[in-house]
Amino acid sequence: HAKKNWNDNFTFFNQNLSDYYTRKANIENHLRKSLMMEQLQVHYQPIIELDSGKIFGLEALVRWEHPKMGIISPEEFIPIAEETGLIIDLGNYVLQKACKQLKIWQESDFDLIHVSVNISTRQLEHNQFVENVIKVLKETKLNPMHLELEVTESIVQNIKHSQKILNELKNIGVNLSIDDFGTGYSSLNILHHLPIDKLKIDKTFINDINTNDYALVKTIIEMGHNLNFSLIAEGIENEQQLNLLKQYKCQYGQGYYFSKPLPANEIEKLLLKKK
Ligand code: C2E
Ligand code: MG
Ligand code: MG
Ligand code: MG
Repeated sequence: HAKKNWNDNFTFFNQNLSDYYTRKANIENHLRKSLMMEQLQVHYQPIIELDSGKIFGLEALVRWEHPKMGIISPEEFIPIAEETGLIIDLGNYVLQKACKQLKIWQESDFDLIHVSVNISTRQLEHNQFVENVIKVLKETKLNPMHLELEVTESIVQNIKHSQKILNELKNIGVNLSIDDFGTGYSSLNILHHLPIDKLKIDKTFINDINTNDYALVKTIIEMGHNLNFSLIAEGIENEQQLNLLKQYKCQYGQGYYFSKPLPANEIEKLLLKKK
């Protein structure tokens, strides 16, 4: 009896593993095609200046709905894109779309200042990354000071190279932020030596506010301020979190409490209402 169970488990395990690899291979193939056919969308989530309640900027977030496989989350396909190198084309595509869109909004006289674009460490390591950012800014005629690039703490694993690239980007005039801050293994001490403007406090810390665990968020904000970083709180979902963050003088925030990520046309409606 025990043996049968073991065999069942083994088959089950193999089946799961093979399903996993099949799906992964499927995603890779379809993502490659969808990218070529420009079938990926970019949604935008407002970033709010907490004191005034005004929209400070927008974060560009890639969206993929495959005709047969349905909606696939970036949490699933971004890691595959990173592993396979597809992230280079995907990243350029999102950067291009986001810069173009912000320029359109600025020309329609919306009071919009910043667009933030997520950049994988793999992109930073690509030898044409900086060149490409310059190219996109030139083509879209967007002023570099209106673009913010979000990198993650994993850049510290290749600190010498990251420092060089980030300095080059800073020299162009773009803004730099650390995304999901607090989830990686970097120290504020290391980040302090990089030309970083903002820390985006990861949503897990904001979530903890509900369970009366304020200490960490408070400490992160205080330490961040002492080192002259601006702070953005991610994943604000209720008023209690908002009030606490305001009390601790966190300047910016984003989250479902304000708005979820929306397609460009719905962002327009939102901006019109605020105009
Ligand atoms: P991220 O950059 O940290 O983006 C924030 C994520 O939190 C987004 O998930 C957003 O929809 C979600 N979010 C916003 N407000 C709330 C909230 O109040 N509560 C909760 N629970 N979640 C909230 P999304 O769009 O699924 O993206 C997941 C991750 O995928 C992003 O995390 C980013 O790391 C990556 N990603 C998305 N688009 C791109 C892209 O164009 N390039 C790269 N390299 N990565 C991307
Ligand atoms: Mg981000
Ligand atoms: Mg984040
Ligand atoms: Mg995240």
